[in-house]
Amino acid sequence: MTGPNTTNAELFEAARRVIPGGVNSPVRAFGSVGGTPYFVARAEGPYVFDVEGRRYLDFVQSYGAIIAGHAHPAITDAVAKAAADGTSYGAPTEREVALAERIANAAPGVEQVRLVSSGTEATMTAVRLARGFTGRPQIVKFAGCYHGHADALLAAGGSGVATLGLSGSAGVPPSAVADTIVAPYNVVPELDDQVAAVVVEPVAANMGLIPPAPGFLAGLRQACTEAGALLIFDEVITGFRLGPGGAAERFGVTPDISCFGKVIGGGLPIGALGARAEIMETLAPAGPVYQAGTLSGNPLATAAGLAALDLLTPIAYGELVARAGQFADGLRGVLTTAGFDAVVTQVGTLVGLYCGPAAEAGWAPADYDDARTTDEQAYARLHAELLRRGAAFAPGAYEAIFVSLAHTPEIIDEALSAIAAASTAATAS
Ligand SMILES: *Cc1c(COP(=O)(O)O)cnc(C)c1O
Repeated sequence: MTGPNTTNAELFEAARRVIPGGVNSPVRAFGSVGGTPYFVARAEGPYVFDVEGRRYLDFVQSYGAIIAGHAHPAITDAVAKAAADGTSYGAPTEREVALAERIANAAPGVEQVRLVSSGTEATMTAVRLARGFTGRPQIVKFAGCYHGHADALLAAGGSGVATLGLSGSAGVPPSAVADTIVAPYNVVPELDDQVAAVVVEPVAANMGLIPPAPGFLAGLRQACTEAGALLIFDEVITGFRLGPGGAAERFGVTPDISCFGKVIGGGLPIGALGARAEIMETLAPAGPVYQAGTLSGNPLATAAGLAALDLLTPIAYGELVARAGQFADGLRGVLTTAGFDAVVTQVGTLVGLYCGPAAEAGWAPADYDDARTTDEQAYARLHAELLRRGAAFAPGAYEAIFVSLAHTPEIIDEALSAIAAASTAATAS
């Protein structure tokens, strides 16, 4: 069993007995990078500390749910205060209204918001809403985009079979994805009158980090408008991370439905979807599309989310962009110096890394096929050497790299020194 002097290895062994694979979300198991996951005891600012007392400079940041740094006092205080007043009521609260207003005021095209408990729920509901609103069955998604683990959207989260209309996971029957069409990212697909919605990560941040090609998002907007389909932006990562208006604002394209998660919960479980009132009022109880949640609009999650959004001033976004830039440039520099082949991408506050030689000078990945040319073994070597030197990258080659407000210029320099040493070691091995 677990106790005070438990090691990562002991905990992982215990975990694997009672939790499938030892984790509650697959990437955490270190399957693709090898080794034993570190079990976190606590975290503070840019650091996480494992149960063995080791400190890691953290670039995982809960896959984007953390933006102010770990255990930010404004957020932990808000959560503690909220908890003292009760943790869930099953009745509406003032903070739900406040958070919905914050999102509606910031996100282009959003007039009303429904709060849910995860990004998966947000996209799942967005699909049902689009089908209910349009009365059409089909959904177009893009290979390599991740929209959570709902049946209809798992197709081509991962493999070429999905482009054939097959499911991306065991347990998803062909019937569940029969109306899911998978298209290559950065190419505007042709739509017909059977398409309810096109769902897209407006910046693809689950196959490394791939920016939308010039005209791609505007092209989707036009194609959807012409076909009478709804455009769904999955801004679960980009929402309030690229800026208050997310990718929609950055690229000047207004979707019909926007999905949120991660940042808007300040590290607590939350998701949200928003659209103009005409669409949102199709949702129950205003309309016929059913959706509900025992913990939706949870008092702790809304308190944490509001506290996080309060910290995200224009100055804060400026700092985040500067730090992402410092990190991306520094990363390119130290990898090149070490002779470690890689391509580093950046969109505003987000950074991506592809290991392996670029196809040609100036090459950057544009779609899932490109992304999958990444050298997963080289990434695994780099990841292990980084961990050894106290820096934590995500244990998977297709995750974006996250910096937070706690990643000061000094912290980033410290990280770059570790990365320089790690990449030299990873090149030699
Ligand atoms: C993380 C993520 C989701 C799923 O959110 P969960 O809270 O993990 O269910 C959906 N879409 C995108 C773009 C994501 O990055």
